Amino acid sequence: MAKPTGFLEYAREVPPDVAVGQRVANWKEFHGRFEGEESKRRQAARCMDCGTPFCQSGVIYEGAVSGCPLHNLIPEWNDLAYRGMWGEAARRLALTNNFPEFTGRVCPAPCEGACTTGLGDPPVTIKQNEYEIAERAIEDDRNRPEAPSHRTGKRVAVVGSGPAGLACADQLNAAGHLVTVYERDDRPGGLLMYGIPNMKLDKALVERRIAQMRQSGISFETDRNIEGEAEAAKLKADFDAVVLACGAKKPRDLTVPGRELGGVHFAMDYLAKSTKSLLDSGQRDGNFIQAWGKRVVIVGGGDTGTDCVGSALRQGAKSVTQLEILPRPPEARPANNPWPRWPRVIKTDYGQEEAIALQGADPRLWCVTVKEILGSEGMVTGIKTVEVEWKADKSGRTGPVEKKGTERVIDADLVLLAMGFLGPEEGTLAAFGVAKDSRGNAAADFSSFATNMPGVFAAGDMRRGQSLVVWAIREGRLAARAVDRHLMGESMLPG
Ligand SMILES: Cc1cc2nc3c(=O)[nH]c(=O)nc-3n(C[C@H](O)[C@H](O)[C@H](O)COP(=O)(O)OP(=O)(O)OC[C@H]3O[C@@H](n4cnc5c(N)ncnc54)[C@H](O)[C@@H]3O)c2cc1C
Ligand code: SF4
Repeated sequence: MAKPTGFLEYAREVPPDVAVGQRVANWKEFHGRFEGEESKRRQAARCMDCGTPFCQSGVIYEGAVSGCPLHNLIPEWNDLAYRGMWGEAARRLALTNNFPEFTGRVCPAPCEGACTTGLGDPPVTIKQNEYEIAERAIEDDRNRPEAPSHRTGKRVAVVGSGPAGLACADQLNAAGHLVTVYERDDRPGGLLMYGIPNMKLDKALVERRIAQMRQSGISFETDRNIEGEAEAAKLKADFDAVVLACGAKKPRDLTVPGRELGGVHFAMDYLAKSTKSLLDSGQRDGNFIQAWGKRVVIVGGGDTGTDCVGSALRQGAKSVTQLEILPRPPEARPANNPWPRWPRVIKTDYGQEEAIALQGADPRLWCVTVKEILGSEGMVTGIKTVEVEWKADKSGRTGPVEKKGTERVIDADLVLLAMGFLGPEEGTLAAFGVAKDSRGNAAADFSSFATNMPGVFAAGDMRRGQSLVVWAIREGRLAARAVDRHLMGESMLPG
């Protein structure tokens, strides 16, 4: 156990982020980091090492995860961090998590919602502790993946280089298989590269990890879109197994008059182009959707919408408004959402914090939906909205009902649609002859990861639908174990 009385002696603290005025002037990460050892160790000392560490359970209650999906050994590495044994802590963390430098930055930390200290006090800063351990490992150049000491002679193709594909490739390589990762974009990383913006996850970290993976023996082929039956058949013939980890990027569209107007874009197109232009030229090439001087309206109050808020502010938007059809969540857990469940409470994330500081008010409007997009000469000029109430119908199902007389027009020069995702894009599943489940995802269960096509596996968002980086890593690891078992009859790979 870390310090037996640590949770009584120390309050939760996180280092301050870079001030808003400073950070919106660039695309650099804005996470704070504790200076010196003492503060870091004090936060690790708050871990109670309770008898049942719900923080590492990763169980699903009512459709949401409670605790860490990777089953990270949280109390163990908290104890090691408290003792200043950073190298040992990094080794413990690497046992369950291939990429703690990513989760330590972008994970929404379901572990903290399930932390026992959190029952009476603010929870242990588990994510920050993970981040500190991962940063320390980078500084000390620890935990580089190494080329395996033997090769099995088996070859595996992984299609898609997001966190699921990368974790799967890393594990299969460690088991001695020769892995080639195919990626249709020009840079590997999936949504780690062309989804999550640079200020949340510096792309140099993604590139660093890919470089290490190459050194350990994994091949990456970029600008390779695996589509069409001929290409799928060739992959199946050339490799002993194929893992499909192509994500779930089919966006939900808005079917209202005016959708076709210029200046209305899917959030993913906006975010991906913004990052590509940033990496190619520092956004000097102009190959991105410009928000400078524009009144930006983002339809969708989730994390993708938040990333659009933060990006538009960095591009110098005149104003940013975010529309959300759902009601504003409560400040504290309601009675029907008790610990250790995922806390369904209001989250004011970095994008909203920035908008509040710059515009003087939260950019989010709750219980609002779009009636029409208005335009002139083919370009968007505004968006007509109406307020909704959430009411149960005769069958007891709750849904949005428009409130009469609440229509209004919000001026807009750029509209970004961030209303979630409907599943994997068409094409790849069909090319491989892989069956879909009722939600349109690749049909494969959570233990075998096998599809209906022999030797073809599916993992990550492509199998579970748009989710989280931590789940993608978990799926990639488990799929690797399933593939290893399929190839060798048994597997020593951990889950
Ligand atoms: C804007 C945005 C922000 C997000 N922010 C967070 C966050 O802060 N924290 C968090 O935990 N989660 C976040 N998520 C969710 C998270 O990024 C995903 O759940 C995760 O990346 C899924 O990993 P994956 O490997 O399954 O798929 P992806 O990351 O989507 O990667 C799939 C890859 O497959 C490639 N591909 C597709 N088809 C083919 C083909 N035919 N041939 C070759 N390559 C192909 C794609 O180009 C892509 O690179 C965010 C998602 C979005 C959209
Ligand atoms: S990966 Fe996410 S859930 Fe797991 S310990 Fe880290 S922050 Fe918590």
